[in-house]
Amino acid sequence: MSTERSERFFQEAQNYIPGGVNSPVRAFQSIGSVPRFIRSADGARMIDEDGNEYIDYVCSWGPMILGHNYPAIRESVVEAASRGLSYGAATEIEVRMAKLICEMVPSIEMVRMVNSGTEAVMSAIRAARGFTGRDKIVKFNGCYHGHSDGLLVKAGSGVMTAGVPDSSGVPAGCTRDTLTADYNDLDSVKELFQRWGGQIAAVIVEPVGANMGVVLPEEGFLPGLRKLCDEQGSLLIFDEVITGFRLQADGAQGYFGVRPDLTTFGKIIGAGMPVGAYGGRRDVMSVISPLGAVYQAGTLSGNPVAMAAGYTQLTLLKEHPEWYRELNERAGRLFDGIRRILQQYEVPAVLNTVGSLGCVFFTPEAVTDYTTAKKADTKAFAAYANYLFSHGLYVAPSQFEAMFVSMAHGEEEVEQTLAVIERYLKQR
Ligand SMILES: *Cc1c(COP(=O)(O)O)cnc(C)c1O
Repeated sequence: MSTERSERFFQEAQNYIPGGVNSPVRAFQSIGSVPRFIRSADGARMIDEDGNEYIDYVCSWGPMILGHNYPAIRESVVEAASRGLSYGAATEIEVRMAKLICEMVPSIEMVRMVNSGTEAVMSAIRAARGFTGRDKIVKFNGCYHGHSDGLLVKAGSGVMTAGVPDSSGVPAGCTRDTLTADYNDLDSVKELFQRWGGQIAAVIVEPVGANMGVVLPEEGFLPGLRKLCDEQGSLLIFDEVITGFRLQADGAQGYFGVRPDLTTFGKIIGAGMPVGAYGGRRDVMSVISPLGAVYQAGTLSGNPVAMAAGYTQLTLLKEHPEWYRELNERAGRLFDGIRRILQQYEVPAVLNTVGSLGCVFFTPEAVTDYTTAKKADTKAFAAYANYLFSHGLYVAPSQFEAMFVSMAHGEEEVEQTLAVIERYLKQR
C-alpha cells in the first residue's frame, strides 16, 4: 500500500498550515505515521489520495452515523445551496430544526444553533453562569469540551485545586473558576461542593466519556450528579456532542434516564456540516440575548445549507428508531468479535463499549476514569493502529479516541474488520 501522495501533500501542508493539519489529531503524531489525505468517501468506506480504500471507523469523529455521502442528505444540501449559501437572516429551516430537536430530546425546551461543539459548550456555560449568577464550574478529568480557554483543563493535581491550563496561551485567570473532579467519583464532586458550595454554576460532564477512549458512567454516577446539582442549586450540563443522537434518538440522557438542565450537541447534529447547538430548560435558555442579558451570537449560525444537512439526518433518525437497534446490534457483533479475539490470543487489553462506540485499551486493568485510561500502552496501540491502516481499516490515530460504527457498516465490513484484527493479534 503506497502512501506516496499523502506524504507529498503532508510535506507541502507543513509549509503553510501549522503541523500540516487543521486539527491536531489528524497529524497522526501519536502513532508516528503519515496522515492519510482523503479524496472521497461513500457508505462505510473512504478512499485516500493514493487510491487506498479503508473501512472507516472514525466517521468524521461521529457525524456520519448514516454512512458517508448519504443520498437524501446530499440532495438536501444541493437543493439548499441552489437557493443561496447564507443570508444572515431568519429562515424557515431554523424553526423546523429547533422544533425537531425539542421533539426528539424531551429535556430541550429551547435551543440555539451555533457552528461547532466548542461554541455550544462555551455558550451553555455562559448561560449557566448568567442564570445562576455564579462563576465556578466543575468538569471531569479526561472529559473534553472543546478548545475554549476555561475548559482546557484536565489534570488538576487534586480535587481541591482550581484548574491549571493544559495549553500554553491560556491565562491562569481563565481557568481559575474551573474545578476538576474524577469521572465516576461522586465523592470528588461532593468535596468540591463542600468547599465551593454556593459558587458553582454548573457541573458539565460527557455522559459517556468518549475523549479518553470510551469510559462508561458507573451505576449511580449520573443520577448522583443530578441529585447533587439539585441540592446545591447548580445546573447539570450534559455534553452530548458525541453521544447526542448516537446511542439513541434522545441521546445518552434517554439511554441512562437522567435529565440534564442544559445539553450541548455537535457532530451528528450537522451530518458533517459545521453545526453545534445548546439547549435545555426554557427558564435557563431565556437568559440568552435578545430575550435576556447573556450575549451570544454568530454570523453563520443556523446557516441554511448546514441546517438542511442536519435536519435531514435528524429527521431520518427520528423516523427510524429501529435503525438504532440494528446499528447497536451490528456494532455489538463487531465488538463481541474483537473481545473474543483479544481473549483467544491472550492480549492484555480491555474493550469498553456502549452502543456503536467502542475502544480497545491496551491495558489489562478495567478503565473507569482518566487515571486508568492513561495506563494504556500507547506504543502497543500505535503498532496495532498502523497495522490496521496498512490493511484497509481507518481507525482513530490515537489510543484515547472512540471507534465509531455507522449504519453503513454491514456484515461484510464486520467480517473483513475482524479478519484483519485477528491476523494482527495472531502474529504480534
Ligand atoms: C468534539 C467534541 C467537542 C468539540 O466540538 P468541536 O465541533 O470539535 O468544536 C466538545 N465536546 C465533546 C464531548 C466532543 O466530543
